Amino acid sequence: LTRDVLQSVLVQPTPSSSSTSTPEPVANLKRKQPSGSSLNTRFGSFPHPSLLVPAGSQVRSASGTGFIHILRPTPELWTLSLPHRTQVVYTPDSSYILHRLRVRPGSRIIEAGAGSGSFTHASARAVYNGIHESPVTQNVPTGQKDGAMKGGEEGGTSNASDPIPSGGNTQTPAVLSDSQGRVLSFEFHADRASILRHELRQHGLHQIVTVTNRDVCASGFSLPDPELDIGGNTYATAVFLDLPAPWLAIPHLTRENGSLSQTKAVRICCFSPCLEQALRTIAVLREQGWVEEDLVEVAHKRLEVRRMGPNGREIGAKSRSQGDDDIKVASVEDSVSKLKKQLWHRKAKQARQRERLAKRRKLDEDGNEEVQDDDSDVDMDANDDEEIEEAPGTAEEENGNGRLHLFNQGRVLVRTEPELKTHTSYLVFAVLPLPWTEEDEIAAKAKYTLPP
Ligand code: SAM
Repeated sequence: LTRDVLQSVLVQPTPSSSSTSTPEPVANLKRKQPSGSSLNTRFGSFPHPSLLVPAGSQVRSASGTGFIHILRPTPELWTLSLPHRTQVVYTPDSSYILHRLRVRPGSRIIEAGAGSGSFTHASARAVYNGIHESPVTQNVPTGQKDGAMKGGEEGGTSNASDPIPSGGNTQTPAVLSDSQGRVLSFEFHADRASILRHELRQHGLHQIVTVTNRDVCASGFSLPDPELDIGGNTYATAVFLDLPAPWLAIPHLTRENGSLSQTKAVRICCFSPCLEQALRTIAVLREQGWVEEDLVEVAHKRLEVRRMGPNGREIGAKSRSQGDDDIKVASVEDSVSKLKKQLWHRKAKQARQRERLAKRRKLDEDGNEEVQDDDSDVDMDANDDEEIEEAPGTAEEENGNGRLHLFNQGRVLVRTEPELKTHTSYLVFAVLPLPWTEEDEIAAKAKYTLPP
């Protein structure tokens, strides 16, 4: 499936759900599609009721000429299809960040700002340890997410009599226990916080993520919400700051005020688009006792590898579409031949230029004042020592049969994928180790001192 279709399947195909920089009112998001609506794609038209099938099902278009697959929603698909309210963190970055922060089922992660909720969704899956209610069955409003949000074992069935909650904001917040994985998300833009809460509820992630509308640079990370049995303390072991000025928020992250775990090392990542911001962040992290600062930029590139036969066709491409099957590549010898020709022509041009120059100098010496020294015309980068007698012919002249078979199975062709979405920023990582006390020292000595 193309990204277009994924996007159409995961998000309502209405103009209001397209990317926009202004937040969409929550009321709009709750709007239901008329029952007669269809999803219209270049693969055909798909009436909404036909999409209410288990995940993995193939659905034929109304005309029967095209088809789509209904996919179970994932953070990756959501990142590609979510309504943008801000710049978002893409999967190449979020997967790396969560790995470096050692976020795992049961972890507590602080996130600020939440923005469009891309990273929020990725971290919600990472911390989920099954102690919550099923994340997918909760509160999927009828008609909002179609089959993509409802299919499969966890997502209920397409039976119209299923008691799928129709609302979204009525369920009371879950009482949290210490053992649950948690995402503690902060966002100072009230509408963004509110829309994200609504989306999380739609996706059944509201028991994993707590969104707090807060300016963390001014007010820090404590949770005033009395419903949380973690007593207003976040006790996080991981922190992700995607803020314009993370250095203002960092001093609020301490073990003493309950925002960070008191028993474990804490890892932080700050996502900043410019180096000056990253350096300022590092300086403040050092002041605040964080260590092992590390600056990383994720330059993600996917390589498409194909094995090409000597006829320039991909080996084993029979099942591919006709278009792909017909991909032609130049052979090594053809490429070398072409380069040699280019070099030969360049040399010839330089020789002509030198000749012209010599003639002009001669005229100059003979008293012609109009002639100027135009050495600059000559490409002096050329390697004068290299001798090329004549413009090379075809590869056949070079090696007899004109074909250089590198592998019995053809040659490997690697092409980079041009459009992999990512947002280039600098990632500053650091660790806040547990303090080493005098008691720790005594205990360690008692435990590890070898007998004389
Ligand atoms: N990481 C998000 C995602 O993947 O969708 C995108 C975050 S966006 C680039 C930055 C967000 O930080 C904005 O929504 C902004 O409102 C929020 N923000 C900026 N300063 C803040 C602050 N002091 N406290 C809380 N949120 C803040």
